[in-house]
Amino acid sequence: MLWALALGLLWASTILAAPFENKPRQKVLLISFDGFRWDYDRYVDTPNLDQMARDGVKAMYVTPPYLTITSPTHFTLLSGRYIENHGVIHNMWFNTSTQEKKPYYQSQFVNEWWDNGSLPIWITAQRQGLKAGSLHFPGTASSYQGQVAMVREVEPLLYNYKNETAWRENTDKVMGWFRDQDLDFVSMYFGEPDGTGHRYGPNSPQIRAMVQQVDRTVGYIRQTAEHYGLKDRLNIIITADHGMSNVYRNGLVEEITLSKIPGFSFKDVSFHLVDFGPSGMLLPKPGRLDKVYNALKGAHPHLHVYKKEEMPERLHFSKNGRILPIILWADPGYVINGYFPVQFHKGEHGFDNQEMDMKPFFRAVGPAFRQNLEVGPFETVNIYPLMCHILGIKPEVNDGHLNATQHMLVTSSGTQGEFYQANEPPPWP
Ligand SMILES: [Zn+2]
Repeated sequence: MLWALALGLLWASTILAAPFENKPRQKVLLISFDGFRWDYDRYVDTPNLDQMARDGVKAMYVTPPYLTITSPTHFTLLSGRYIENHGVIHNMWFNTSTQEKKPYYQSQFVNEWWDNGSLPIWITAQRQGLKAGSLHFPGTASSYQGQVAMVREVEPLLYNYKNETAWRENTDKVMGWFRDQDLDFVSMYFGEPDGTGHRYGPNSPQIRAMVQQVDRTVGYIRQTAEHYGLKDRLNIIITADHGMSNVYRNGLVEEITLSKIPGFSFKDVSFHLVDFGPSGMLLPKPGRLDKVYNALKGAHPHLHVYKKEEMPERLHFSKNGRILPIILWADPGYVINGYFPVQFHKGEHGFDNQEMDMKPFFRAVGPAFRQNLEVGPFETVNIYPLMCHILGIKPEVNDGHLNATQHMLVTSSGTQGEFYQANEPPPWP
């Protein structure tokens, strides 16, 4: 009798405990479609993105960190830090002493550019016993404190970022990593619709076709997750690094060309990063900072000129030794030219992150997320603590807050993790 009671209790405790303790850890796939603006789905039929919103969560838009360009904003997604805090302040690695600059792709391989204090989520996950991977995501090529993502693929130099067949092959590959190597987290990058947005502009028929390609791919990703038996464990987050805005020239606007500004001379500058869309940075020669600043400030109604230490706090783009002493940015419609116009893109990004054209989209679906829920905007620094929470890992110090995204989740017990809080209290009441 006692024995039977004990057995009964044992049975009850096993049954009660089972769904909780034996619950498999949830997985996360973070996907970025470079330059997918928040409102692109308004102009194109996107049945798969719409279905994803019904099955999960859609944010009205998300706000990227400033500077709104690819490598810096992607490293924010991976680390939850503002750009001044993670230090990957530009797509281009540069050395102000030697005048060297490396373009986006080559900068991926400059380890010290990426590995300068902040850890991407792969490394944090691996240190806590999880398995992480990355495909083509900016930052993948570098190591961090001697570690790399355990499964990774970096695209070759002359990679065709538009090939839909390759997008499907890459999807199959990543789903295979989850199923066959039991990875817990993978970040995956697609180089479009950014390339098309630059070349043809965000209102072009070409961008609409590319948005449809993205939509088909989203359908394929979800279908493949189901075929691979991952649907019940895999959370899919889809977002982007920045948006896209039209650029005007050819007499439509008064172009910004620094060499034409009275009182400004490149002879007063020892290093510059201009001819790179709407943003620029200058290192004046010793003793010439005020001369350069005074010449540029107010010189063009659509050119913003700031000394580094006077940058608006909200941009979080000041407190880093790599940021040059003078920061320039243009209003939407304009780019900053150096000696003479050499930029011919119809679309650009790199503008103020308050501009609606710079906002990316956000969708999430999976066992951790509520269904058919549309939420208001939030900053992309908050995606990192959300992912850490779902994975059940303790985040590094970061600039995000779980309370910015917590309402998207099914329940606090629906995911593996504790509700770890960031060090600082949230800035809102
Ligand atoms: Zn980008």
